[in-house]
Amino acid sequence: MGCIFCSIAAGEIPASIVYASDRVVAFNDIDPQAPVHIIVIPREHHPSIDALAQTDAGLAAELLQVAAGLGAAHHGGYRLVLNTGPDGGQSVDHVHAHVLAGRGLGWPPG
Ligand code: AMP
Ligand code: ZN
Repeated sequence: MGCIFCSIAAGEIPASIVYASDRVVAFNDIDPQAPVHIIVIPREHHPSIDALAQTDAGLAAELLQVAAGLGAAHHGGYRLVLNTGPDGGQSVDHVHAHVLAGRGLGWPPG
């Protein structure tokens, strides 16, 4: 079965791209949960942050660097989220960071 985020990274399905480098791509979430809701992915397929951190810590750091840079554009602050595994609420098995901003965000999460 194909991976939707691999397809977005390859340009095979459309997305609202906000950042792209040779290793990392960011695009607006299709179902935004805040005024700013961006998904940041490595182009390379890794199922989760566990897998990525173990196999390529440099790429994991680059993912966070891009996500933080996108968040930092919003002066009110931002939240980075990496849902991981079933209890973490991960629904797409290609590692991704959510960048949420533009409103006060509740805590604790649901
Ligand atoms: P998660 O539940 O943490 O795995 O997050 C997956 C996110 O991907 C959700 O917020 C979805 O709304 C988002 N998503 C799924 N398909 C697309 C798509 N084609 N374009 C943009 N965002 C998507
Ligand atoms: Zn993938």
